[in-house]
Amino acid sequence: MEESRRYDVIIIGGGTAGLTAAIYAARAGLQTLILESGVYGGQIIPSPKVENFPGLPGISGAELAQRLYDQATQLGVQLQFEQATGLLTGDVQTVLTETGRWQAAAVILTAGTKNRPLGLENEGRLTGRGISYCATCDGAFYKNKTVAVIGGGNTALDDAETLAAICKQVYLIHRRDSFRGDAATVRRLQALKNITFMQPYTIAALEGEQTLTAVRLRHMQTNEEQRLPLDGLFVAIGQIPQNQPFSPPVELDDAGYIRAGEDCHTNLPGVFAAGDCRTKSVRQLVTAAADGAVAALAAAEYIRAHALHAR
Ligand code: NAP
Repeated sequence: MEESRRYDVIIIGGGTAGLTAAIYAARAGLQTLILESGVYGGQIIPSPKVENFPGLPGISGAELAQRLYDQATQLGVQLQFEQATGLLTGDVQTVLTETGRWQAAAVILTAGTKNRPLGLENEGRLTGRGISYCATCDGAFYKNKTVAVIGGGNTALDDAETLAAICKQVYLIHRRDSFRGDAATVRRLQALKNITFMQPYTIAALEGEQTLTAVRLRHMQTNEEQRLPLDGLFVAIGQIPQNQPFSPPVELDDAGYIRAGEDCHTNLPGVFAAGDCRTKSVRQLVTAAADGAVAALAAAEYIRAHALHAR
């Protein structure tokens, strides 16, 4: 790589937030680099159909990612496939990677989160083939079918409620007798005829060749196992934000999300956070895109106000 090449803005992460930030940054006249550790597009890539992105109903996640990438690169945005491993801040922001360092006047962190996986054999192979991590995105594919949700937090409870309105039968599998999520939601779920609570159970194994066909449940106290045939399984056992390489100096909350409000400002001047990686209540494609715009315009204003343009 070119040692310490200076950009106006470096965006860490090439998901929806990062690519949208890049489009806005480039259109604001900023020399823009995206550093992406894996595949551009982020978490949306495996979704066969995105039904809730305004104006593009039914687009596949891969197609949406490609369109965002094409739009950004046609505006002159550069993308490097490198893993960011650290951040040094000051008048110039320096992003450390496995192979070197990149510099910019401003940095936008959009590293996102990863769904916490169950860690079971076949989980990767069956993801998108009966296993989903997003009921809002994929629930409609299971109309009148039998599904399960695993988890005991608010995401799992909300997913169960969403799915109960669509599916014939919903099993809510949780490893403890009490829920971490809101008691009021639990009471609403208990009143629904098509939800069955499976507690305290965990999933010991996933079955299915082409698609998921069943799970093996294991009782947490007796270790007894039983087979539960399913059309779909929604995994909602938490998220893992990908912010560790940037803290310190960037301030995180107790769950590991970057402390940043709707203006996308972090605790550091010239460092912004957008999308799922920051503290927020709704983590959806459209809110990630909105954050990307806000963060890029905030970065442009920061660069203008401090006369830090690279050219
Ligand atoms: P969460 O609150 O961390 O809950 C994760 C759940 O998954 C817990 O019940 C946990 O069980 C269970 N779990 C973790 N690892 C597991 C494993 N390996 N096997 C089986 N179960 C496992 O995560 P979340 O539900 O995604 O929520 C994240 C945050 O967003 C929370 O603060 C939540 O309140 C908030 N949120 C709010 C709303 C809302 O207000 N409507 C909606 C969604 C999310 P244990 O309880 O036994 O640890």
